[in-house]
Amino acid sequence: MAAIAAAEAGVRDVHILEATPEPLHKVLISGGGRCNVTHACWDPRALAGHYPRGTRALRGPFSRFAAGDAVGWFDDHGLELVQEADGRMFPRANRSTAVIEVLRRAAANAGVTLHTGVALKDAAVLPEGGFRLGLRVSGAEHAACSAPITCQRLVLATGSHPSGRRLAAQLGHGLVPPVPSLFTLALAKESLGELAGLVVDPVELELQVPPAEAGGLVERFRQVGPLLITHWGMSGPATLRLTAFAARALHAASYKVELTVRWSGGKDRAQLDALFTEARREQARRQLANWRPWPELPRRLWLYLLAQAGVDPSLRWADLSKAGQRQLVDALLGSRYRVSGRGPFGEEFVTAGGIPLGEVNLATMESRHCPGLHLVGELLDVDGITGGFNFQHCWTSGWLAGQALATI
Ligand SMILES: Cc1cc2nc3c(=O)[nH]c(=O)nc-3n(C[C@H](O)[C@H](O)[C@H](O)COP(=O)(O)OP(=O)(O)OC[C@H]3O[C@@H](n4cnc5c(N)ncnc54)[C@H](O)[C@@H]3O)c2cc1C
Repeated sequence: MAAIAAAEAGVRDVHILEATPEPLHKVLISGGGRCNVTHACWDPRALAGHYPRGTRALRGPFSRFAAGDAVGWFDDHGLELVQEADGRMFPRANRSTAVIEVLRRAAANAGVTLHTGVALKDAAVLPEGGFRLGLRVSGAEHAACSAPITCQRLVLATGSHPSGRRLAAQLGHGLVPPVPSLFTLALAKESLGELAGLVVDPVELELQVPPAEAGGLVERFRQVGPLLITHWGMSGPATLRLTAFAARALHAASYKVELTVRWSGGKDRAQLDALFTEARREQARRQLANWRPWPELPRRLWLYLLAQAGVDPSLRWADLSKAGQRQLVDALLGSRYRVSGRGPFGEEFVTAGGIPLGEVNLATMESRHCPGLHLVGELLDVDGITGGFNFQHCWTSGWLAGQALATI
């Protein structure tokens, strides 16, 4: 995006150095092979709220190039994006190769030269300005490129690859240490395995993360949304959002924390008590196992909660004791589970951490430490929740860097 934006804005002699044989590998595998290009969130401020790292800082960049601009940009370049019910946007062709084709065609049309199998090994600032680049070339056909080359401006868009962080450090940048974000949670064995496969929507999840050092405060993170129970623990949008926002705190606690789940679908104690009282009156002769206090509460979950609360499911509603009701309401309002670690990753794999945003001018993506160097994409300490937000930040930061190159 940075290369295309620069070339389209009039910069001549734009080159992409790509270490692997094919560019855009992550686009290819993204979104389960469909590429979730962006999210139908049109307000820059609301968009920025989807980034656990970058919430405030991204308001500025998104006021210049946000999701609507990305949709328009791709449309202008021949790729129509369509919105799914949950707001995620995919190419109409429903395959990530359509995105790759459009980006490659746009780059070629704008006169960008792509060099594959050429890794940037080191970069040194030249006294007269610009950079001297040391390259590592794979494949005999590129042998001529292995000599150092120079460039006036350098955009690092190396994603989460360690070489990019090393290059940025060489050029004077610090690093927020990378930790995983957007993962599922593994629960202690005795937990929810018998409910595997169940989706409960909505639930409220709350993580209590103990302080890393004595005297610190317990950190709390809350999310509401659909929960998928798996044989190892918890997945689904609410879990992924929770782990994204709590990524650093969870890492510091070695992923050993306590999780409270509110199964009550947003109902408070008074509303639950009213429902139970009504059921005891109206469904007096029915067994607890056969009548759930509200229909959206999955039956398997209700039977599980009865067992957890030690209430006999064959009891008639009329015979439910006050104590039994209190235990059930307590279980619905806050069951506690022990998180034993990270579960397998979700569909998107992203790294929290990278080059601190304070070290970059977010209007141009230019380094504050090294004039002429621009840093974009996942290399920066920005990450979004699942839903197309991670690519959106890449389109935005790439576009801003490309525009800036043209205004020198
Ligand atoms: C399985 C998976 C699915 C995902 N799905 C989605 C999704 O649907 N929607 C979404 O928004 N996000 C998704 N993401 C996240 C998204 O892919 C990343 O946020 C995004 O690709 C980051 O883009 P980038 O350009 O910063 O880095 P990358 O896409 O990682 O690109 C960096 C490029 O630089 C090259 N490179 C690295 N170092 C060097 C070097 N020293 N010299 C030369 N070349 C180098 C790499 O080979 C690579 O081609 C997904 C991620 C994964 C892993």
